[in-house]
Amino acid sequence: MGSGTSGGVPVIGCDCPVCNSACERDKRMRSSLYIKGNNGERVVIDTGPEFRLQALRAGIKYVDLVLLTHSHADHLHGLDDLRQLSRINPVQVYGNEQSINDIRERFAYIWRKTQKGGGKPRIDLHTVNEAFSFENLVIMPVPVKHGNMDVLGWMLRETTYTGRSVEAAYITDCSFIGYTEIALLKNISCLVLGALRMRRHETHFSFDEALETVKRIASPALTRVFFTHIADEHFYTEINEYCSRWLERNGIYQTTVQSAYDGLEIDI
Ligand SMILES: [Zn+2]
Ligand SMILES: [Zn+2]
Repeated sequence: MGSGTSGGVPVIGCDCPVCNSACERDKRMRSSLYIKGNNGERVVIDTGPEFRLQALRAGIKYVDLVLLTHSHADHLHGLDDLRQLSRINPVQVYGNEQSINDIRERFAYIWRKTQKGGGKPRIDLHTVNEAFSFENLVIMPVPVKHGNMDVLGWMLRETTYTGRSVEAAYITDCSFIGYTEIALLKNISCLVLGALRMRRHETHFSFDEALETVKRIASPALTRVFFTHIADEHFYTEINEYCSRWLERNGIYQTTVQSAYDGLEIDI
């Protein structure tokens, strides 16, 4: 639902060529993903500041689960807009310990008994350290590093009615993935991966670091990778060209790496 870095693209007050681009694919709302399971499961990963706009654009009618990667503002502060989606049933929100603690602090009014009216989202919070099932989905947190912060990627496995399993993963805001987690990701067929820009950054993968990560995970199963959480330093088309040249140079032919864009739909 969004493919941009923390400030979104265009960036407020910025006059760079990408922020001035007329191309729709160079306009990036804050990173977020909406997943529709075959059995009607509806999952959102991260509720950033544009969550309302993104939910309207994606035609979201209900949400069962929200999975949080971490509690930075660009991933969390649209949480209040779950209000309209929790009228019938509370939304189940999952995150690591820090994310859940930060929600209790930043959204303290949700649990304040004295507040009447005004409306509040109805959410149930869950600290999660291991895989759990929801309907036909197995949902696995993938601990990774965002600078020195512990954040979560999310891997999902769906078993279809034919008995076939498909796995996909979403990892944004990441600067390091350990050996165990790489091994866990070995059978995924699709990956959405945070890749900020060409230049290096302390807490995010650069394009080259993200591509090296793709190389570590690459298997015959992995056919599609999409970069997300992208800054305003490169045009959509430029990123795709750079990635395909990199893959060719490194002899990776079974996997395509492309820039995600807002409104992109992937069928897995
Ligand atoms: Zn972020
Ligand atoms: Zn972050």
